[in-house]
Amino acid sequence: MSEKGSRTAMRTVYCDHAATTRCHPEVARLVYEFLTEHYGNPSSIHAVGRRARKGVEEARAQVAALIGAQPGEIFFTSGGTEADNWALRGAMAANRAKGRHLIISPFEHHAVLDTAEALVREGYEVTLVDVEPGTGIIRPEALLAAMRPDTVLISIMAVNNEIGTVQDIAALCAAAKAKDPDVIFHTDAVQAAGYVPLDVKALGVDLLSISSHKIYGPKGVGALYVRKGFRFGPGLTTGGGQERKMRAGTENVPGIVGFGLAAEIAARELERRAAHAREMRDRFLRGVLAIEGVRLNGVDPFVHPELRHPGNANVSVDGIEGEALLLRLDMAGVYASSGSACTSGSLQPSHVLLAVGCSREEAQSSLRFSFGEENTAEDVDYAVEQFVKSVEFLRKLAAPGR
Ligand SMILES: *Cc1c(COP(=O)(O)O)cnc(C)c1O
Repeated sequence: MSEKGSRTAMRTVYCDHAATTRCHPEVARLVYEFLTEHYGNPSSIHAVGRRARKGVEEARAQVAALIGAQPGEIFFTSGGTEADNWALRGAMAANRAKGRHLIISPFEHHAVLDTAEALVREGYEVTLVDVEPGTGIIRPEALLAAMRPDTVLISIMAVNNEIGTVQDIAALCAAAKAKDPDVIFHTDAVQAAGYVPLDVKALGVDLLSISSHKIYGPKGVGALYVRKGFRFGPGLTTGGGQERKMRAGTENVPGIVGFGLAAEIAARELERRAAHAREMRDRFLRGVLAIEGVRLNGVDPFVHPELRHPGNANVSVDGIEGEALLLRLDMAGVYASSGSACTSGSLQPSHVLLAVGCSREEAQSSLRFSFGEENTAEDVDYAVEQFVKSVEFLRKLAAPGR
């Protein structure tokens, strides 16, 4: 993304793909087509309505294919957040006869964490499963230890959005269901989709959340996979009979068709995208981990590449405030994130880093860089160079005269 020939234009390097991605140009074209030409309401009987309906149902098949589901098991939502909210509330509300207990991990996305907290205020009980310090890996034994006869739901994310830890959801789900075949298993797979192969049958999960804008699709649309054949309640809205009477409200047709195409491309490109992101991430880490006082948070991808999202890097820098470094990098055109995008701006240390045993200081001196499609080797080298310069600048500022 450099602009040769212009001395004023600054190179910009987007290293925040875990926060969101740029819409794929083919996807953007399709969204536009459905805004301007195929603008019908999918519930209308006439031709323009039928064309919109066809788009929605094609997208449902494309999204289903990305995760090995049946189209009838896919319910479109306004994004990953709504899918997570619905998963928790739909499962708990429909199974009160069994109990009021649910299990989550301590480093879930706020869409799960805050919903669980809200459920506690409504009289439900939540247990946070133990995680391995440093990596955040969850062992089946830890999950079994947290289960009770009245446990209705287990919700554990497939890939963490801050430190990129990949959980063995198939093993966790199998262990839980061996102990209690009726326990419902949900996984937030928003970060996994498009980078880690996902097959709901192989995973054995009942519910799975994904989001379009993390896989080069438009924002404001996502999906909840709901396996056929267990007790699960309708969505959060009351109104029309859309989404087989499970989620009221006129469908976001342009968003849904864009999500569908983005999912199809993601399935096709998964291996290449993962390999590219990994190459960029590893190049970046080799550069910044050479600096004194810079430490990696989470699984070491040079030892266990399969246990970390290929695009995720998260580092702490001794003696430096993450937010200050973030702002310096922003001025240099390098776009990263401190903690998760949703909590930056507030100076709360990341709940994810605290959950894996980081001190408050380490957590507050951390930054996340998440690499993806548009990053090049030159971009990464520029990001490393600016990282080095910014760290030197901030350290001088903190200790003048040294
Ligand atoms: C981004 C994200 C979400 C929220 O998805 P939205 O579509 O932005 O609402 C949920 N979970 C994880 C792990 C995410 O990274």
